[in-house]
Amino acid sequence: MSEELIFCPLGGSGEIGMNMNLYAYGKAGNHKWIIVDVGVTFADDSLPGIDLIYPDPGFIIDKKENLLGIVLTHAHEDHIGAITYVWPKLKCKIFATPFTATLVTEKFLEKKIDIIPYLKIVNLNGTINLDPFKIEFVTLTHSILEPNGLKIITPVGNIFHTGDWKCDPDPVIGEKVNEEKLKKIGDDGILAMVCDSTNVFNIGRAGSEADVRKNMLKVMSRLKKRILVTSFASNVARMETVFYCSEKIGRKISLVFTKCH
Ligand SMILES: [Zn+2]
Repeated sequence: MSEELIFCPLGGSGEIGMNMNLYAYGKAGNHKWIIVDVGVTFADDSLPGIDLIYPDPGFIIDKKENLLGIVLTHAHEDHIGAITYVWPKLKCKIFATPFTATLVTEKFLEKKIDIIPYLKIVNLNGTINLDPFKIEFVTLTHSILEPNGLKIITPVGNIFHTGDWKCDPDPVIGEKVNEEKLKKIGDDGILAMVCDSTNVFNIGRAGSEADVRKNMLKVMSRLKKRILVTSFASNVARMETVFYCSEKIGRKISLVFTKCH
């Protein structure tokens, strides 16, 4: 029986939020599995009384003895938000870059779980070996620190799994996109690119966070009274922009958090 490569999204493909993607390699009945991201999505008015939804992990729980680990692309809720609900049923290793690992550790502490023995910190642009997979982390740009694409190298070819991304020449926070590395990934050949980018089907270029900052400073400078700005707290770049503009025009900041679970 020949070996095969499987991509099996439990959530997040063709929909917004609750990203949980499985990859497997091996002979039928003896596949080795990895999970990329374990996220939530937010319920709307069609589901009264429900705040958060996450993918049904039953399929991979049944195969947990062949599960090599969970790999996290970045620290947004739609990529890590369900980890404290799903991980106790799997008890596997978790691989993440330092900023993501810090937020994940805090999440587990809230549930009184010490995740440190299971949490493996990966350097930016680092590589991990999860035989038969080898995974290279690739720094991209997004609205949070350390957004990583993953080059997933398998015996039959490579997958490029981006996580969330945009190409921002001036992302305000974090590194710029490593274009050279992306070109090399393309030159090496990929079987498929599995990607996630808001408004990806809109033609044109996405704006840069640096342009948002410029215009927000202009608008905020004109205003005389109290200014209210709403944002996801996890949009770290936007939060930084608000702080930057406030300092420039001599405003004081009050933070008001609402928790959604
Ligand atoms: Zn994101």
